Amino acid sequence: MEKDSEFVMEDAEPPGSMISVMDHADKRVPFIAINNLPLSKRVKKSPLSSQCIHYIPRLKTSVRSQTFRKKFFPGISNSEWNDWHWQIKNRIRDINTLSRIIRLSEDEYLAILCHKGPLPVSITPYYLSLIDENNPLHPLRRTVVPVKREYLHSFGEEKDPLCEEQHSPVPGLVHRYPDRVLFLVTDFCSTYCRYCTRSRRVGDGGEVNSQQWEKALEYIENTPSIRDVLISGGDPLTLSDEKLEWLLSRLRQIPHVEFLRIGTKVPVVLPQRITPSLVRMLKHYHPLWMSIHFTHPEELTIENRKACCRLADAGIPLGSQTVLLKGINDSVETMKHLMHGLLKIRVKPYYIYQCDPIPGSAHFRTPVEKGVEIIHSLRGYTSGYAVPTYVIDAPGGGGKIPVSPDYVAGRNKDCLLLRNYEGKLYQYPDSLEKVEICNYNNPDEGRENF
Ligand code: SF4
Repeated sequence: MEKDSEFVMEDAEPPGSMISVMDHADKRVPFIAINNLPLSKRVKKSPLSSQCIHYIPRLKTSVRSQTFRKKFFPGISNSEWNDWHWQIKNRIRDINTLSRIIRLSEDEYLAILCHKGPLPVSITPYYLSLIDENNPLHPLRRTVVPVKREYLHSFGEEKDPLCEEQHSPVPGLVHRYPDRVLFLVTDFCSTYCRYCTRSRRVGDGGEVNSQQWEKALEYIENTPSIRDVLISGGDPLTLSDEKLEWLLSRLRQIPHVEFLRIGTKVPVVLPQRITPSLVRMLKHYHPLWMSIHFTHPEELTIENRKACCRLADAGIPLGSQTVLLKGINDSVETMKHLMHGLLKIRVKPYYIYQCDPIPGSAHFRTPVEKGVEIIHSLRGYTSGYAVPTYVIDAPGGGGKIPVSPDYVAGRNKDCLLLRNYEGKLYQYPDSLEKVEICNYNNPDEGRENF
């Protein structure tokens, strides 16, 4: 993680972030805003004036991002750079702009040229600033810049490996487990990951409109067993504050929905989006939890840390989700570094996922043993809070199945044989049928088994 001393230059919060009106894919879609909390109530009064003014916090920008901005976006101010609308509008989507910034390998160049359909190339200027312009094997670069192996389909790969469409009672809603649903509220992301489970649909230019949301909400309202709604996409935090608040307020009006979650990569690829106005709005919809998609320790920048701290300060419990990726984060050292870094920014390492077998994902997938080895190297060797659960989302729609090292070594009569993190064996008395009476005045006498 970068140190504070490496960061200079504080700027005011960009204009526009207090009242965001950005629609995903730069388009406006029909939408009815129902704000339980009018924006006028979400401002602070100036101590010097009776007039209401918006509180303008200060943002830090890393030296690295500043250098990048000055080199590739010379006319852009720090305020514009820190405006999430500017970041989305200027995301890098075409081969000419990308090749002006990074030296594309022939493999990358041809892969981008051949690309058709969903999962387009799109990278925020901020995230691109973290990428090594000269090294095609740079971990972050590999996650967002395609290569030709994306077009090679291997054994067992499917467009919808988790059978989400089959478990979808209405479009955009996946109801797989008894008490919870996955609500896919948008197909848009600011930056697309080349290994995305929903590569079949994200970024295809289609819109998730308000009618689709209404049908999903109606289903949730009519299904009392649903107590937990995971809002995902695409990336829900690319929606405007108003749309997000409309959605959260509608969900909060459903009495049996106890718990809301947001799944997002925005704090990592677009940390500028985590504005004070966004977190002030989110904190009105507790209990609200957030799962943040992290891949590599190089994502733990000052900007990302600020975003996570703002969310945590708003009382939102943060958990991480990390996809295990070959040559990117599949080493014990990289994962340990990431998990420790997450704890430092108040994110609990939650899941490591085995990469889903979407078409063209073989170059990203590791053997399952690698995941088990990583968990084995964490458990016992570092804080329990730093150890996530390693899961395989079962192809065919079986749901998440935890895979872990086997710590049960067998039985020895009435005892369970357990292996600790160092491989040493221990016995745990595991028989409730045998009751042993002893003389507590003299524990060595009068023992009798019943
Ligand atoms: S941020 Fe999530 S939904 Fe978007 S491309 Fe990456 S993995 Fe897919």
